[in-house]
Amino acid sequence: MPLYEYRCPACHERFEVLQRVGDGAESVRCPECGARDVARQLSTFAAGHAGGGASSFADAGGGCGRPQCGSGFT
Ligand SMILES: [Zn+2]
Repeated sequence: MPLYEYRCPACHERFEVLQRVGDGAESVRCPECGARDVARQLSTFAAGHAGGGASSFADAGGGCGRPQCGSGFT
């Protein structure tokens, strides 16, 4: 079971709770003041997903200027 870190906005107490994955914060109460309106912090160890889409963008080198021979206008 992962350990979640919570913070109580009422008394600013920080505490950790063992919860199952997917459990919400409804069953969690602040051990200090008993408030139920606690906010779960981002867990420190479960932060994965180093995702970077390195898309090799094609170098669209357009704009070869056609030599316009111009102007026989008089
Ligand atoms: Zn509290």
